[in-house]
Amino acid sequence: MRRPIIAGNWKMHKTIAEAIELVNRLKRELYALTDLDIVVCPPFTSLSELDEILEGSNLALGAQDIYWESSGAYTGEVSAAMLKDAGCEYVICGHSERRNLFFETSEQVNKKARAALANGLSPIVCVGENQKLREEGRTFEVIRDQLMESLKDLTEVEMLKVVLAYEPVWAIGTGKTATPQQAQEAQSFIRNKLSELYNEGLAQSIRIQYGGSVRPDNIADLMAQEDIDGALVGGASLDAESFIEIVKRTGGR
Ligand code: PEP
Repeated sequence: MRRPIIAGNWKMHKTIAEAIELVNRLKRELYALTDLDIVVCPPFTSLSELDEILEGSNLALGAQDIYWESSGAYTGEVSAAMLKDAGCEYVICGHSERRNLFFETSEQVNKKARAALANGLSPIVCVGENQKLREEGRTFEVIRDQLMESLKDLTEVEMLKVVLAYEPVWAIGTGKTATPQQAQEAQSFIRNKLSELYNEGLAQSIRIQYGGSVRPDNIADLMAQEDIDGALVGGASLDAESFIEIVKRTGGR
């Protein structure tokens, strides 16, 4: 059985004071839920403050991005060792906003995932098609290419620490959620691909999140799908009440 994992991607939202207020509330209301992984991914500026607050709790910390070099003249970038030092256990790699707005390629996502793994972080590797590609019937082709390039040369042992997120770009921040059937179809395709690239045992143990306008009212139907093991939540993770509800309705397995 795969342990569910819900992660909140706060994107470029929340000051340090606002971040502290939100996690204190999450900590208070979610402390009893120990049969799933709960992750918050605030902006870099709040990481170390939140790490202190989350110590000993059932909430883990994640970053939203990473750079693959370990140190050097890379203005504005943050290394894996720095994220680890700030208390992170997870890091989102290849979110569609990074791919689209900052022209990140799957080759770069692969370097980021490898740097994360080399430093004991679990990468949450995102893949997903945009509206145009879906309409052209190229969804599986795009997912396959992103998957193969982003995971290139990762060993089986490394893969066991990877979390995947299927995030159709047309569903992110649009209020237009993929139907549970659309999400299941894509995620089952991803699991089959993992089985081909590695083996069936590994494919069955990797967790695949769905992301794209997840809300309290749609999480249960998504989680009822065989290949959906959790969610990467954007907008609804900024509001304590809705994130708490999503986590509660996810349930453990
Ligand atoms: C995301 O940012 O990964 C995301 C899925 O956003 P939203 O939930 O707002 O669609």
